[in-house]
Amino acid sequence: MDARELYQDIILDHGRHPRNFRELPQATNLAHGHNPLCGDRVTVYLELDGDRIKDLSFDGRGCAISTASASLMTEVLKGKTLAEADALFKGFHAEVTGKAVPRLPDALAEDMERLAPLEGVRAYPTRVKCATLAWHAFEAALKNGAAGTVATVKTE
Ligand code: ZN
Repeated sequence: MDARELYQDIILDHGRHPRNFRELPQATNLAHGHNPLCGDRVTVYLELDGDRIKDLSFDGRGCAISTASASLMTEVLKGKTLAEADALFKGFHAEVTGKAVPRLPDALAEDMERLAPLEGVRAYPTRVKCATLAWHAFEAALKNGAAGTVATVKTE
């Protein structure tokens, strides 16, 4: 099995069996994301403990790419500090948009590796928005704070 097939399998697996796919009753932050180009909708829930992401989850409905991306994001960001999460978002965003990837701390290399299956979307500009939707919602949740505050982000 070559890398491309392996990546495809990972996306299909996360698309069909998303991890951390649930509401988070104790969420301290949440935001809704909407990608009108594809119709993807996602709600990202965060439980922050100081500057650390104690728990996060998502729900919603979207295509396989948006669901897989949200699922992988929750796996990678759980337990991270906000600074680490920001670095991963920048790295991931550069990766999927085909821009120069900023140098990340070595400790995050394994996490970037886990997000690699989504790199393939860079050849398909409309799919990039599917892949980044959950991350934009994550950022919006950080900005908008307390549970009940709802922000709809549109991918630009
Ligand atoms: Zn989509």
